[in-house]
Order: sequence, then C-alpha cells, then structure tokens
Amino acid sequence: MGLKKNPNSMVKKIFIKTFGCQMNDYDSNRIYDSVQKIGFEKTDKYENANCYLLNTCHIRDKAKEKVYHEIGRVKKIFRSKKKPIVIVAGCVAQAENQEMLKREPYIDIVIGPQAYHKINDTILDYSKRKKKNEETEFDTISKFNYLSKIKNKDSKVSSFLTIQEGCDKFCHFCVVPYTRGPEYSRPFNQIINEVIELIKNGTKEIILLGQNVNAYSYRKNNKEFRLSDLILELEKFSELKRIRYTTSHPKDMTEDLINVYKKSKKLMPLVHLPVQSGSNKILQLMNRKQTIEEYLKIYEKLKNINSNIEFSSDFIIAYPQEKEEDFKDTLKLVENIKFVNSYSFIFSPRPGTVAADLELIDKNKSQERLEIIQKQLFKHQINKNKSLEKKVVNVLVENQMKDKVKLFGRTEHMTSVIFDGSIENIGKIVQVDITSSSQTSLFGKIKQNYKQKVA
Ligand code: SF4
Repeated sequence: MGLKKNPNSMVKKIFIKTFGCQMNDYDSNRIYDSVQKIGFEKTDKYENANCYLLNTCHIRDKAKEKVYHEIGRVKKIFRSKKKPIVIVAGCVAQAENQEMLKREPYIDIVIGPQAYHKINDTILDYSKRKKKNEETEFDTISKFNYLSKIKNKDSKVSSFLTIQEGCDKFCHFCVVPYTRGPEYSRPFNQIINEVIELIKNGTKEIILLGQNVNAYSYRKNNKEFRLSDLILELEKFSELKRIRYTTSHPKDMTEDLINVYKKSKKLMPLVHLPVQSGSNKILQLMNRKQTIEEYLKIYEKLKNINSNIEFSSDFIIAYPQEKEEDFKDTLKLVENIKFVNSYSFIFSPRPGTVAADLELIDKNKSQERLEIIQKQLFKHQINKNKSLEKKVVNVLVENQMKDKVKLFGRTEHMTSVIFDGSIENIGKIVQVDITSSSQTSLFGKIKQNYKQKVA
C-alpha cells in the first residue's frame, strides 16, 4: 500500500486546497496523514509545492468550472517552474472522473472521496511511470480500514471526525448520493479509537460528521449502535468537553437521539437540522420525505427537553414550482422557529439529479425571495447575539487571533467569540463577559475570577 517511508527520499511538499463542507476538511487532514508516509510535508506556500491537490465540492453552483479555473491559475503559477503533480480529489473528481483528464491535460490524478486509501500508491505510480490515473470506485470500507491504521494527527481544540458517509435519501436537487455513494457507517470501535487519538492530541471538542450523520447505524453481534450510543460513549471521556454532530436529516431524528439531550451534559444545545422549505408541497417535490408538521414535532420535543436548545438550518429558495404561498410558508416557519444561524441559497440545478431539467423560477423573483428570507434570518441572528450583550457566556477557547492579542472561541451555540485573554486559556472553557456583538460574532473579555466550567 506504499505505507513504508523511505528515509533516504527527499522531503516533498504538498499543497492542499480544500473547498466545501467539513467532511472535505476532515478528508484533507486524513489525506495529509496518509501522504506523510511517502515523504510529503504540508506547505502553505503553493508556489513551493511538488504536489498540488484540490479537494473539491460539487454542492455549489458551477463547481466544475471553478475547478478548471483553479487549475488554470495553477498552470500560470508554475509556468516557469517545475510542474507539480496535480491531483483533483473530492466530489467534482467523483462526478467528472475520466472527463477531467481528457479536458485538462495539466491534471495528473483524479481521485474520488471513497478511494483515498489509494492515494499513496497513485502518487508513487505517477512519479515512477508518469501514467495518469483515475480512481473513482466506491470502496468506503477499504478507505476507512486503511485510514484507521494511520494516526489522525489533527491537534486542534475542536476536531472533525467522519463517522458516516454517503446517502440513500436521493433528494431531487442533490448530488451527494451520486458522488459519495450509498450510506455507510464506520465501525463503532474504529471511531472510538480515533477519538482516543484525537484526545491524546489535545482535542476538547469533537464534531461528528456525516452526510446523514443521524442515520449512523452499525451492527455487531446482533446489536445496533446508533449516533445516540456514540454520543453517550464519547461522554465518558473526561478530557472531552463538548460534542456536536452534523449534518442531520429530520427523518433520522429518532427518539433515542432526542432522548440523548436529556442524558448528555456534553452534547451542545445547537441542532443543525436542514428543512430546505416551509412548504409541504415543495418538500414533496424535493423528495425530502418529511413534512413541516413532523419537523415542528421534533422542534417541540427538543425544546421541551431543554428550552436553551436552538436550531439552525439550510434553505433552498425558489425551487421549481415554488409559488408565492409556498415561499410565505417558509417565512412563517422562520418566524416561528427563529433559527439562530442558517444557510440559504437560490436553487441551482445539478447535472444528473432529478431536478436538473426542471423549469427555473424567474431570476429577479428568486433573488427578491432570497433577500427577503435572508433579511429575516439575519434579523433573528442579530437579535440573538444582541440579547447576549452584558451577559456571561461559556466559551471553548480554540486559538489566538492573527493579531496575537485576542482569543477566539465558540459558545455552546457555535457563535464565534473574540475576546481579550491569555493563551493559557486555549483548550479551556472560560466565561466571557459579552460587551458587544455583530450579526455573526460576540466580543468581550474573560470574566474576572471565573470558575472553569465543564460545558
Ligand atoms: S439527505 Fe442530504 S445528502 Fe442526502 S440527498 Fe438529501 S440533501 Fe443530499
């Protein structure tokens, strides 16, 4: 598997540029953990790279074109230098596969997200024979088996950990089932072992990741392990202060998971639960397999357990056939739930999906609706942050800001906090007096004589 490091080989530099979601961040870190075994070191200076890897995302509009544009930029940078090995990884690589090698000869390797266990061999093979390669098989089991044998060296205070990949839901607008393949849940013990490694590296917060993280289901000896079991297992590690998970589907918000909010002290009270639209008609057209009534039931159950729980969400605005009344239903839902932080986009078709060829809503109308919804979403976010001024919040301190003066951390609800304090507090939960706020952040200073809190 190309795992043996040749001590005589020269140190080579890899530059990894990551687009998209947290799962890509996690993958990029793991790719780096892997290529170190064949003598690569990470560089932040792309112009020094012997290997230039783009970890791509297919979710946003014109994803493919953005990748070719980026490759064009790399070409220019290296015009008068030795060409690096150019690798396109991630979901665009999966979706485009062979096409990329044909269209852009500057690309050397195309590798999909379920084939990262082959990355070392592919690079070594290319270095030896200059043979271009495309690896886009879905082989998730081999990937995680391989990665579980390589230490996760992530040493951030807050670390991502992928526990589940792929999706069987096939929402009509989404490429994930085609680019990440069917749902796969990693073995329970494999995840716990990686948690132990991360804790040894200094991690204090774990964010469990999956395209459908709450669909996590691993069976062993006739017992099913679910996300709720994982959270309660993580809860036992005293070094770990906070647990989060994302992204979840309302359909998989099962009772056991809801009940974990009663038992866990470390599971943070922010639920990111994409709803996409407030209209049942649109949800059905999207194939979301859930109704607004079901969504509201989950909301009520969680609020009854802990009124401090807040919701964030994703919205697709101007989905084909969205009428004025459908849009108003979405506004009503936003007003009702008062999401604290959400992502909203105008629908844009993805090739290969069911919604790819549907008739689009007029551009101006779509833009107008997006502006209306964002205004409302931002208003709730601003109000929430304003309500915290002159209050004390618990913050997990993640790092020092670039100015080397202020610290950066997050509240229980994931809001960024920038404040005065000393670097000894990094990795600790501190109490911060909030003095001012913006739409996205809180500002303040460490409370004098605070007692360190658990969560
Ligand atoms: S559940 Fe999420 S990942 Fe799966 S198809 Fe729908 S939007 Fe895509």
